[in-house]
Amino acid sequence: MKRLAILGSTGSIGQSTLSIVEQFPERYTVATLAAGRNVDEAYAQALRWRPKLVSMATEELASDLSQRLRKAGVTGIEVAHGTAGTVACSTHPDADFVVSAIVGVAGLEATHAAILAGKPVGLANKECMVAAGEILTRAARERNVPILPIDSEHNAVHQCMRVGTHAEVKTIWLTASGGPFRQLPLEQFAAITPEQALKHPTWVMGRRITIDSATMLNKGLEIIEACRLFDVPPSQVRVTVHPQSTVHSLVEFVDGSILAQISVTDMRLPILYALAYPERPASNLTFDLAALRHLDFEQPDFERFPCLRLAYEAAEKGGAHAIALNAADEVAVEGFLEGRIPFTGIPRTIEAVLASTPEAHPATIAEVLAADQLARQMARALVA
Ligand code: MG
Repeated sequence: MKRLAILGSTGSIGQSTLSIVEQFPERYTVATLAAGRNVDEAYAQALRWRPKLVSMATEELASDLSQRLRKAGVTGIEVAHGTAGTVACSTHPDADFVVSAIVGVAGLEATHAAILAGKPVGLANKECMVAAGEILTRAARERNVPILPIDSEHNAVHQCMRVGTHAEVKTIWLTASGGPFRQLPLEQFAAITPEQALKHPTWVMGRRITIDSATMLNKGLEIIEACRLFDVPPSQVRVTVHPQSTVHSLVEFVDGSILAQISVTDMRLPILYALAYPERPASNLTFDLAALRHLDFEQPDFERFPCLRLAYEAAEKGGAHAIALNAADEVAVEGFLEGRIPFTGIPRTIEAVLASTPEAHPATIAEVLAADQLARQMARALVA
């Protein structure tokens, strides 16, 4: 029985993880939940799963939750808040496996703390790997702690990698849906509205990641994530646009063989893979191969999607530039959703922040967060 700490339990990955727990009660239970700001959902989850500990984003939200649990006569659930609360969830003695699914760098300290505490991590939070991948992977290697990617592409790569050695890998091919604007004429990009950008053709996801898919910055973050998770340079990671999102990624080996992973577009599958690794439990997440007629692949257009070029540049420099890429994008996406900058202002903001970011390689989580704050300040000034 694996007892899970779920960081980001009310988000889409968190909820999918809980539906896996629901489906496999003989394999998984919930030890702790870090829930963020949605008290209604956190309360419902606490009632359903009876974890040892629930953490909320703030003290007010935590006391709100405590009160509701008291009123309902529920005892034995501790309520915490803030970063300390999230860290308490990820390092709880009753947790055997940590699902890291808090969006943004908010989950960074808790993920690092989990690795230091020797807990295997299922990582859905790509920002952690982008901002602090050098620190996290080093800590994981030193302690022999597995980091299992839940991001669908990296999960696919992880699966394909199992058939060869690291030295036998030539290129990691990350597939990208290309987003909703793959075929939109370049001159219309400036007029894209948040409503248009929030409609993703194949995946239903959170707001930031949906916009990041539309700019392809998401794929840019995934390039850096792949470099860190699989210990390869950016030159060994390439992107291919695959509108059907059926092949989740591919690995090309030195002998010329290319392996691809195909499955239904449902995040429950990579979550189950990460939770169960190295086993493969039988599931109902089937893919109808007999109904598959064709698969399209095309080269990404770096002119339409300047975020891809910016990501390769940040990947080459690493350190503070990777941090700034992520931080500046998060601020720029907020600015776009609030109507303060146009769609094309997202890559412009990131490019300007990267240009004024000094080359540095933070060695601690505190230094990572400081570099993150600095980049956010620069981006906010530009968006305002
Ligand atoms: Mg992905």
